[in-house]
Amino acid sequence: MSILLASSWTDISPYFSQWKKTLDQEQRDIDVRLYPDEIGDIDDITTALVWDPPSGLLASLPKLKLIHSLGMGVDHILKHEDLPEGVPIARIVDPDLVTRMSEYCVHSILHYHREADRYDRYQAERLWKPIPYPAASSRRIGIMGMGKIGADTAMKLKSIGFDVAGWSRSPKNVPSVPSFHDKDGFRHFMQHSEFIVCLLPLTPDTEGILCASTFNMMPDGGGIINVARGGHVVEEDLIAALDSDKLSFAKLDVFRQEPLPKHHPFWTHPKIRITPHNAGITNPETAAAQIIKNHRLALRGLTPNNIVDRARGY
Ligand code: NDP
Repeated sequence: MSILLASSWTDISPYFSQWKKTLDQEQRDIDVRLYPDEIGDIDDITTALVWDPPSGLLASLPKLKLIHSLGMGVDHILKHEDLPEGVPIARIVDPDLVTRMSEYCVHSILHYHREADRYDRYQAERLWKPIPYPAASSRRIGIMGMGKIGADTAMKLKSIGFDVAGWSRSPKNVPSVPSFHDKDGFRHFMQHSEFIVCLLPLTPDTEGILCASTFNMMPDGGGIINVARGGHVVEEDLIAALDSDKLSFAKLDVFRQEPLPKHHPFWTHPKIRITPHNAGITNPETAAAQIIKNHRLALRGLTPNNIVDRARGY
């Protein structure tokens, strides 16, 4: 009854070794194996703990009772067409990861709210030039996706004093954060939002949502922060919106192709800031216990926690 740690990424070994060590320390009686070298007898594997699993691997494990994402997103699993039917898929929901994510988002909003890029340019020119800026209470921020991370980010921004609204599939009740929902609420939400933070899962409904028609609903000179998935952005539309001054900035942590290829125009665009998909990284120390618990629940035929709705895509 083993846990298999697997990814198609080649540079993930040090992180996986850290995971294996932490899982071993957490529960010594559970056998944890690293793919591919330690896979052993596949009949032993009942939980696959994965990040972007190699194609065909999950379908090849005959005794699989649980597929567990190593992160909060699951698009890297659901993209596989040959997923075994009836095996539950769980995701991590960890306050440590939520905090890392909302910290990144708050930092990014403050960066642009207080004109940090322009002051960098002025300093390079030794230019002493104060820039007027609005009070936080009149800066309108829109959070796309009011789930675990979106709601936490909204509350933190609200506590600083920003005018925050959220958009989700279903209506939400976050204190003092107006809730827009579904397709009907989308235009009003975008019209409200000078700065957008995208925290949606990547699904067929949200793929390419950050596109020209969406940008055109926003006030002129707005900006986007995308920490969700690269597939949310239509890249040519983003560059066109920045070049035409429809948008004034984009802060991007995630990309359609990762690592972002060296020749990609995002690298050198003066209005784009890039981080290498590390707004939030799952910490084995804080997340290992929930994986062990889910592994045991699945073994006993019980429903693990934080199960994903395959049809909905998150
Ligand atoms: P949740 O599943 O908790 O929340 C998702 C939110 O998106 C919900 O509010 C949901 O609405 C809303 N939503 C989903 N589909 C739609 C739709 N079609 N229209 C409108 N709203 C929609 O997600 P998390 O907060 O846990 O995570 C969000 C994403 O952040 C992850 O999927 C992942 O891609 C990304 N992420 C990125 C990391 C990084 O390092 N860059 C690290 C961790 C996560 P409702 O509440 O009504 O269901």
